[in-house]
Amino acid sequence: MEIKMQEIAADLARLKKYAQLLEEENARLKEELVRVARDPGFGGAEAAGVPEAGGMSNLISLYDRGFHICNLYFGEMRTGDCLFCAAFIERNRR
Ligand SMILES: [Zn+2]
Repeated sequence: MEIKMQEIAADLARLKKYAQLLEEENARLKEELVRVARDPGFGGAEAAGVPEAGGMSNLISLYDRGFHICNLYFGEMRTGDCLFCAAFIERNRR
């Protein structure tokens, strides 16, 4: 019983460490996503006016891959359809 508890404690410590690594990786990827999306060549969600066609299709493909592209939640994973993203796409559709 004693040994079992130690094993569980060790597993828990490993999982905590792993979760922390994943959180750091997630934060890094989010920053990367924002950086790429704000790149002038990419179009950019924050850019004033209508993004160029290329940038917009990049954003739509991000949306299709499950990310928000709206200003509210930009770069976060979607759990379903987002009205803000839908409105953003609708506004910029040609
Ligand atoms: Zn959204």
